[in-house]
Formats: sequence, C-alpha cells, structure tokens
Amino acid sequence: MDNVLITGGAGFIGSNFVRYLRDHNPDSGIVVLDLLTYAGNRASLDGIKDIELVVGDIRDNELVRQLLKTRKIDTIVHFAAESHVDRSIEGPDAFIDTNILGTHSLLKAAKAEWLDAGTGRPHRFHNISTDEVFGSLEPEDPAFSETTPYAPNSPYSASKASADHLVRAYHHTFGLVTTTTNCSNNYGPYQFPEKLIPLFIIRALHGQKLPIYGDGMNVRDWLHVADHCRAIQACLQHGLPGETYNVGGGEELPNMKVVEEICAAVDGAFAADPKLAERFPAAPAAQGRCTAELKNFVTDRKGHDRRYAIDESKARSELQYAPERDFSKGLRETVSWYLANEMWWRPLVARPAD
Ligand code: NAD
Repeated sequence: MDNVLITGGAGFIGSNFVRYLRDHNPDSGIVVLDLLTYAGNRASLDGIKDIELVVGDIRDNELVRQLLKTRKIDTIVHFAAESHVDRSIEGPDAFIDTNILGTHSLLKAAKAEWLDAGTGRPHRFHNISTDEVFGSLEPEDPAFSETTPYAPNSPYSASKASADHLVRAYHHTFGLVTTTTNCSNNYGPYQFPEKLIPLFIIRALHGQKLPIYGDGMNVRDWLHVADHCRAIQACLQHGLPGETYNVGGGEELPNMKVVEEICAAVDGAFAADPKLAERFPAAPAAQGRCTAELKNFVTDRKGHDRRYAIDESKARSELQYAPERDFSKGLRETVSWYLANEMWWRPLVARPAD
C-alpha cells in the first residue's frame, strides 16, 4: 500500500480514515479525491500532514485515470457517495449518478490502469458499503451475514447494492482485486449534522425539538468510526480478493435508546461544565431541565426499515477485527467532541430549523 487514493475523503468516515491512515501508515502517499458536495468539508482534513486533496468528481473517468497513473496509486478506498437515506427519498437521481455511475467510472479507470495497461502493479479496490443492502429484519431474525441475499428497500440502499454488484462483477469478470466491507451505522467526530446523532446533539444545544420517526423502536447496530477505520485497515491487509466482510459495532439499539443516551450525555456535559450554560442558554440543560423534554414523535420515514443487525464473525475470524468502543462511552466522547468543535459544525448549521 504505497500510494492510496481515498474517494470521499472529506466526508465523515473518509476524513476519519484519512487521519487514521496518516497516523498508522506514515510512509504511504495519500491522495483524497472529493467533490466537496454539501457533505464534504475541507475543514475535516485540517491538521493532517502530507496529503493531497484533489477537488474532483469520481464520475470524471479521465481525471481518475490520470491520478492513478501520475500518483502511482496501488490502492483505492472508495467512500464517495450520496449517503443520506432521507435525501434519496426526496430525490433519488443524485444517488444513481454518484453511487452507481460514479463507482462504475472508478472501476473502469482502475481496470484500465491496473489491468489493461499491463503494468502488473499489485493493486486493490476497496469498496465501502452498508448493511442497508440486506433490507430489513424481523425482531427474531438472525443478523445479516455475508451470505444474506441483497434486498435493498430505499433508493440509497438500492444504489449502494448496485455499486456492490459492479465491484463483484469487475472482480469475477476481469480479475480486478477487490474487497467490500458492509458496515452498520457509524457515529463519531466530523459527521455532517443531518445524521441522527450530531443532529440531535446540536438541536439539543439550541433547545429545539428532537424529531423521532414513528414509535422510535427501529433498531440499528452502532459502530464507532474509529472501530470502522481499524476494520478497513484490517481488510486492506488481510481481506481476500473478491470477498466481502460485515463490520458492526456489536451495539444493537432501538433509536429511542440512542436518543435517551444523547439526552443523558448532554445533561451530563452541562452538569460537569457550568460554562456550557452561557454558550448554549436555550438548551434545557442550561436551565436545570432535562434534554429529554425535547423528544418529539413525528410521522415515520417512508419505507423505514425496522431492524438491521450485523453478524461480524467472518471479520472477527479472518481479519482479526473486533469492535472496541462501548456505545455509551463512545457517545459521551462524541458529545464532548461536538461541544469542543463548534467552529467545525457552526458553519454547517448556520440557520438551524425548528
Ligand atoms: P458523507 O456523506 O459524510 O461523505 C461523502 C463524501 O463523498 C463527501 O465528502 C462528498 O463531498 C463526497 N462525494 C459525493 N459525491 C462525490 C463525487 N461524485 N465525487 C467525489 N466525491 C464525492 O458519507 P459518510 O457517512 O462518510 O459515508 C461514507 C461511505 O460509507 C458511503 O459510501 C456510505 O454509503 C458508507 N456508509 C456510511 C454509513 C454511515 O453510518 N455514515 C454506514 C454504512 C455505509
């Protein structure tokens, strides 16, 4: 892994991975290719030494080919995507363009440079996918394994499933060395504040209602982004060509429990630091009340999957990966990070909606 191209490296998981890789592989060349859509943010890469950020589109096949050639890239870690399910319900087109056509454009460039040009360079295309491609589980169903049939339900998960199939096809048909990881819901620093955890932390600080879909009993597995980065690194080192690996956090929780933990973590932070009441006077916690009073049930998301759960035994046995971060602790750390990094998120929520 001499020279790595990280697509979507200015997004949430991508920027965490760039930071992780820089720390753990000091000798690797790192090129980030990111279009800096609303979800991409240069500031998420601040302070990371010796990386090159190329602002560009994964659908620009010629650009990608040039980068692979001139930067002597041997590894692609592909995060770039439209990633928010609610947006895919409002407007699926961008998801088809970026997630399917964009992934195909990258695969074509990788094939051209790594296989057709005859350089014989060892290479790997690592694809970041989601557990959402497997559809929805009933309460007693076994967790998703790598052999669970794909049954995506939202335009987002359908576009990710399509991308996964293309990655698979480029391995089986052309011999491209590929791996895919299907991970659960990530949380941690640098997550764009449209996703549940940062959205609710920031709304709680402004005393705004916390909109909970349906009955709040949709279940997700929660994976700290630092654990996810370790899993990706393990897959780059030990993952077998053509294989897929499920990556979870071992923390299956109903949304309501997540919201309660956020409320408790915010209350705890205010209790420990009286200055927070001056910075965020509209927060219930600033007025001696409980953040939980902001909970507000709203109409469920269309087609909302009921439960996702991850069987990660393959990653444990073949990649020696196991999640380390306990959810309550990881969540408190995440709340602390958002409190300490208002400079990062403030421009992204300049006009918080009620
Ligand atoms: P994100 O939305 O925070 O970041 C996506 C990044 O991709 C942004 O920096 C954006 O600018 C960039 N991008 C979008 N379109 C692009 C294009 N055409 N060309 C170049 N760059 C482009 O996403 P995330 O939460 O960091 O997710 C990263 C990957 O992990 C995605 O593939 C997503 O499907 C997958 N995933 C995420 C989660 C999660 O909980 N966040 C869970 C499972 C899988």
